[in-house]
Amino acid sequence: MALLRAEWSDAAACRGIENLLFFSPDVLESKEVRSRRERQAKQLCADCPVREDCLSTALAQRESYGIWGGLTEIERRALLRR
Ligand code: SF4
Repeated sequence: MALLRAEWSDAAACRGIENLLFFSPDVLESKEVRSRRERQAKQLCADCPVREDCLSTALAQRESYGIWGGLTEIERRALLRR
């Protein structure tokens, strides 16, 4: 999110929140820790007023990493394959 500078990002629920919640760290992350982090991020996304804008931007830009619009990179790739 922090790399994005779009008009809708001003209303993002994640504005001002650590990117670490939305992106995997550079160090190894256990399955449990990753699962908890992704769950917390997705909870924020679920109530975000710009969720659709965020997701459509990530899909259009083929964002390779992170949670955007409530979906992980794997979930977004699956969505694009449909
Ligand atoms: S949908 Fe999630 S990642 Fe996208 S702007 Fe909202 S809170 Fe941030």
